[in-house]
Amino acid sequence: MGKGNVAIDKSMIKTVVDGKIMIPLPKVLVGNRYYPMFSVLSPTHCADCGNKLHVNSHYTRFILSSHGTIARNVTYWFCPVCKKPFHDQIIGVPGSANYSSEYYDKQMNVRCDGRCSLHNSRQIGETYT
Ligand SMILES: [Zn+2]
Repeated sequence: MGKGNVAIDKSMIKTVVDGKIMIPLPKVLVGNRYYPMFSVLSPTHCADCGNKLHVNSHYTRFILSSHGTIARNVTYWFCPVCKKPFHDQIIGVPGSANYSSEYYDKQMNVRCDGRCSLHNSRQIGETYT
């Protein structure tokens, strides 16, 4: 280590409240607005014909993240006209993956060459966290 002031990495900063470590969820820019990570964005209209979407079903998704496993209630939608299915988007989670982007990035930094050889990513979460 060299001498002098070196800026500390504040990305892992933690606040303790009532003996529990609080980690504020990062905000993610979507379109021109910031949303807290893991907010659920619902589509309202069909991307093809512009009709209002109807609810098809509800589902709970579990997202592996460095903030723990996050449970999110999401909705599946369908267009009454062209019958196309749509689904909610979870901020910070790529598509229908069960891990968050930041978790994936961290995993890339931690794991040898960033490859995942285990079949069950939940198992990786347990190993990593
Ligand atoms: Zn449509």
